[in-house]
Amino acid sequence: LKRKYLDESSERRRLYNEVIELKGNIRVFCRCRPLNESEIANGSASVVNFESSSDNELQVICAESSKKQFKFDHVFGPEDNQEAVFQQTKPIVTSVLDGYNVCIFAYGQTGTGKTFTMEGTPEHRGVNYRTLEELFRITEERNGTMKYELSVSMLEVYNEKIRDLLVENSTQPTKKLEIKQAAEGTQDVPGLIEARVYGTEDVWEMLKTGNRVRSVGSTSANELSSRSHCLLRVTVMGENLINGQRTKSHLWLVDLAGSERVGKTEAEGERLKESQFINKSLSALGDVISALASKSAHIPYRNSKLTHMLQSSLGGDCKTLMFVQVSPSAADLGETLCSLNFATRVRGIEGGPARKQV
Ligand code: ADP
Repeated sequence: LKRKYLDESSERRRLYNEVIELKGNIRVFCRCRPLNESEIANGSASVVNFESSSDNELQVICAESSKKQFKFDHVFGPEDNQEAVFQQTKPIVTSVLDGYNVCIFAYGQTGTGKTFTMEGTPEHRGVNYRTLEELFRITEERNGTMKYELSVSMLEVYNEKIRDLLVENSTQPTKKLEIKQAAEGTQDVPGLIEARVYGTEDVWEMLKTGNRVRSVGSTSANELSSRSHCLLRVTVMGENLINGQRTKSHLWLVDLAGSERVGKTEAEGERLKESQFINKSLSALGDVISALASKSAHIPYRNSKLTHMLQSSLGGDCKTLMFVQVSPSAADLGETLCSLNFATRVRGIEGGPARKQV
């Protein structure tokens, strides 16, 4: 048993190092949703084209004679289902069981499928469900060589304020949290509830609580969810029963606020304030990831609550995956190009800060 375990873990390490050497720790996947019913009824044609492109590329038809080409680590078209998306995501998320910190984000305009990709629906489960199911399956499989404890936290960042979504008390405002420097030098959110989970059933109960708390006090759950970041954190405590080594690692599954720019007429009052906060945190996230991708000496984590909180799970040995979600509709062309340009910059292929000499 011990030999099998040691062989397996050295093979896993070898494969991991090979991939890292080839590609680095940051991936960007692009996903384009299908045209929806009203777009079809309006006779909209898709401006995002996959057929003529080579692997992992897509073309956006900007005008009759103008096309723009984009390349990502993986591209999912309207035909690709949740299982296809999860197959590509699985090796990244499950590495949390080997002691790696992992962050996954869904970025894009409201209505492009961020929640569909991460949360999914009861019929079409998303990355969150499939990931936890897989983590429980693997912990079962490693029973005897590894002992794991899994716990889950759920929080929201709205207007640069962190809110614990597992604090359920409808008569009192939910707890607001601040980020602190933990003793061991990593970022921490003291007092954040970590609910111990033993199986997928526990996770769904907890998600239901979180979603209920999230919607309290808001006129429309959808409206609020498009303007706040929702974060699910899985904490894994691992103990190697053969050599006694212990690990603690985090997997963050993040459904980001909508990246769309507000129209001139809407840009006032509360809506303007929200948009400024969203802008600030999304650009801070983009800056951090592109600084990491270009191996810059200075990583600007402190520029937003989101990046500050995720500091210990972004960079170094950590794995990062961003889903850039887009709409195929001509009506969304402007936002689609903005999102694809942002993701391209994040991936560090073009532009990005110059590499500093240290
Ligand atoms: P967002 O979170 O970006 O605002 P949603 O996840 O709420 O967007 O998606 C908007 C609508 O489009 C939802 O009704 C969702 O079910 C649907 N949708 C999104 N992506 C897909 C997809 N790949 N396949 C089928 N339906 C999708």
